[in-house]
Amino acid sequence: MFSYRHAFHAGNHADVLKHTVLIATLDHLLEKEAALTVVDTHAGAGLYRLDGDYAGTSGEAAEGVLRLLSEAKAAATPLPDALARYLEVVGDFNPKGGARIYPGSPFITHHLLREHDKLKLFELHPTDARTLDANIAQLEAGRQIAVLREDGFGSATKFLPPPSRRALVLCDPSYEIKSDYARVLEFVAGALKRFATGTYAIWYPIIPRPEAHDLPRRLKTLSTKAGKSWLHATLTVKSSKIVTDAASGATHRPGLPASGMFLINPPYTLKPLLEAALPQMAQRLGQDRHAASSIESGG
Ligand code: SAM
Repeated sequence: MFSYRHAFHAGNHADVLKHTVLIATLDHLLEKEAALTVVDTHAGAGLYRLDGDYAGTSGEAAEGVLRLLSEAKAAATPLPDALARYLEVVGDFNPKGGARIYPGSPFITHHLLREHDKLKLFELHPTDARTLDANIAQLEAGRQIAVLREDGFGSATKFLPPPSRRALVLCDPSYEIKSDYARVLEFVAGALKRFATGTYAIWYPIIPRPEAHDLPRRLKTLSTKAGKSWLHATLTVKSSKIVTDAASGATHRPGLPASGMFLINPPYTLKPLLEAALPQMAQRLGQDRHAASSIESGG
């Protein structure tokens, strides 16, 4: 079984990118009255304690949402809209300030959805699925939310297209196994065939591995061939180079240096919002001179 637990990574720089994009996308899609279905193919546990054992061990939020929060307090100028909105949503879960509680994609999404919208959550890890179930039960959302202990890649397309023909699909695997990259492509290709007008948001890690490098290129080809518009945003916070200690010769892996979000059929409002927010994200979350961001779109 998988060893990846999102609790170790909750609120890190990749979550800042992913959840800023998620919120900006949902805000736009929810402007229309017709019901929206959100399919979260890899949901995680839903809600995280940043002062708990998992997050405390890795401390990744300190270089992500917590850093952004303290930067925002000290900043002379207001944050760009998409970043301010991200912190506003995190703040809704922390009425006393700070970010002791960090909402994962299921809770962020549910927080923004209206009563007539639907949320389908897939989580395969037994412990995370149990925690997700328990967290979601507290929302007393009834039939609005379905939690499925099923393979998101294999099963999520059964909800496509939804009756209202309006859906956002978030595909956020852990990429623990190399085959996840190919499965993302296979999943998106199959989903697009069933439901070509849905909005798809795919997160991926930018790491020195050919599959990770190829994924956005292949997603671009897929979107272009399907005649769909796309948007690709990346955030780099540090160099990906393995550092060798001169004295001991010990090598140190830098941890996740960068990540990207690839969207198919993105809202037209997303690009200008991210053009303003991404450079600020890189500046405020950057850990060395390699910090950078990029955005491109097509179709
Ligand atoms: N989307 C979540 C968020 O933003 O808060 C984080 C998800 S985490 C990156 C990926 C999750 O996918 C992990 O909890 C892992 O257990 C789960 N997972 C891995 N393979 C899966 C699969 N084939 N189907 C469903 N869930 C899977």
